[in-house]
Amino acid sequence: MDDNINLSYTLFPDIDNKADEKKLFKIPDVADKHAAAYWSKCLEIIRDNVDKQVFTTWFEPIKAHKWENSKLTILVPSQWFFEWIEAHYFDLLQKTIKRVLGEFASLEYEVVVEEKKNTLDSRTIKLPGLRYPTTTHQSLSASAQPFNTNLHPRYIFDNYVVGDSNQLAYSAAVAVSQNPGGTKFNPLFIFGGTGLGKTHLAQAIGNSIVRKDPKARVLYTNSERFYIEFVSAIQNNKIHEFANIYREVDALIVDDIQFLAGKGKTQDHFFHTFNDLYQAGKQLIFTSDKSPRDLVELDARLISRFQWGLIADIQLPDFETRMAIIKRKSEDEGTDIPIDVLEFLAKNITSSVRELEGALIGLLAKVTFDNRPLSLEVANEVVFGTNLKSAGTISMGDIKQAVSEKFEVEIKLMESKTRKHEITLARQMAIYIAKQLTELSLKQIGASFGGRDHSTVLHSCRAIEDYLATDSSVKNAYQNIMKKLKS
Ligand code: ADP
Ligand code: MG
Repeated sequence: MDDNINLSYTLFPDIDNKADEKKLFKIPDVADKHAAAYWSKCLEIIRDNVDKQVFTTWFEPIKAHKWENSKLTILVPSQWFFEWIEAHYFDLLQKTIKRVLGEFASLEYEVVVEEKKNTLDSRTIKLPGLRYPTTTHQSLSASAQPFNTNLHPRYIFDNYVVGDSNQLAYSAAVAVSQNPGGTKFNPLFIFGGTGLGKTHLAQAIGNSIVRKDPKARVLYTNSERFYIEFVSAIQNNKIHEFANIYREVDALIVDDIQFLAGKGKTQDHFFHTFNDLYQAGKQLIFTSDKSPRDLVELDARLISRFQWGLIADIQLPDFETRMAIIKRKSEDEGTDIPIDVLEFLAKNITSSVRELEGALIGLLAKVTFDNRPLSLEVANEVVFGTNLKSAGTISMGDIKQAVSEKFEVEIKLMESKTRKHEITLARQMAIYIAKQLTELSLKQIGASFGGRDHSTVLHSCRAIEDYLATDSSVKNAYQNIMKKLKS
């Protein structure tokens, strides 16, 4: 692991007091054309290495700011954004910077601060402690060095929102953290879909143990890392040292255990590590995307051991929990997002907490970088990826036509008084889309649907929002129509 990149960031002090009240942030223009050119080279590489969605959410919003003394400074919209990037894409960024800017270049972040909070000086933070280290080489040689836990400080119980979907896993995690190795929850096996908070919870246990007892040797790893280190230990004749690292810990957290599938020798080794630690009364914590029963590609004796302790699943959060999470995140961000915008996000993003977070970040990025007011309109663009209103070319006729085709309901019927379900739904959809995409007033929209009043229009919009949150076929139809209108 090389240390060429000194990630540190300072806050951006250049705040425009006269900026529009409604806008959360004010971001300066890109200052330096070298910086811009270098960064765009970096982006080319990054684009090839991450999902499109990830690229749009996390990398596109970043602006280059300065290139000076071999240091590239980039602007990010918030501290949280920075932490996210750093936690998830540190390696990629490091490699990219090295490739584009050379061995000795470094990267620095500047966070654009919300203008209402003028408490800049006290918030400058140095970064190295927050970085996400890799394990082996450091630990292999390093009896004198402090124990490297691999834990990320952001993942703690205090910022973990509890709801029905994760109550059991959370309670077990807290119990384990208070008495590692001493409860019946050993091993603690947490499973659930991607982006639902397994890593967060597992690391929170580790952070909590270390906070109570700084000498506790907690080691966080994931099964892929375990595998890579195992293989490299074999190649370098260091299997003994490798085994010792794991046998010395008080608590071992292995994330995403499902990736041990098909790796027989690693599983063997892992099995022995498990037994030794278990017999010594050490705490074991595992996460997986499936329940042990469904991990059919793993060795049966491992699977049976996973079942010795407690198996807790994390489910999809319900609306209330999603709302609590997004509210909490926006507060942590120090932003004041209108409740209807938060509700819109919580209603429409149901697939995972990670996506919910991504949408919030995307929203703040748009508001910051495009200098737009925080509104439902921007939220809608973030969620459904459209930018129509500003194009200003969509007419009521286009909308009616598109809805009519998709729902197979004649325009005439949508404009009539009929209350038959399919017709009502199509009408409500057209009204909702008209509200999103045109500048027409509620009254004008109502008028174009057989003289309905503005409260009917509002009611239609709420009805569709409910559908979008609960009915995937309506949501698909909506997305299709939006796509069509856009093209
Ligand atoms: P998984 O490991 O299950 O794929 P993560 O633990 O990485 O999911 O969670 C994805 C993101 O969502 C993380 O940024 C995490 O902090 C956040 N998150 C998940 N669940 C919660 C929760 N209950 N409260 C607050 N944040 C959460
Ligand atoms: Mg995870």
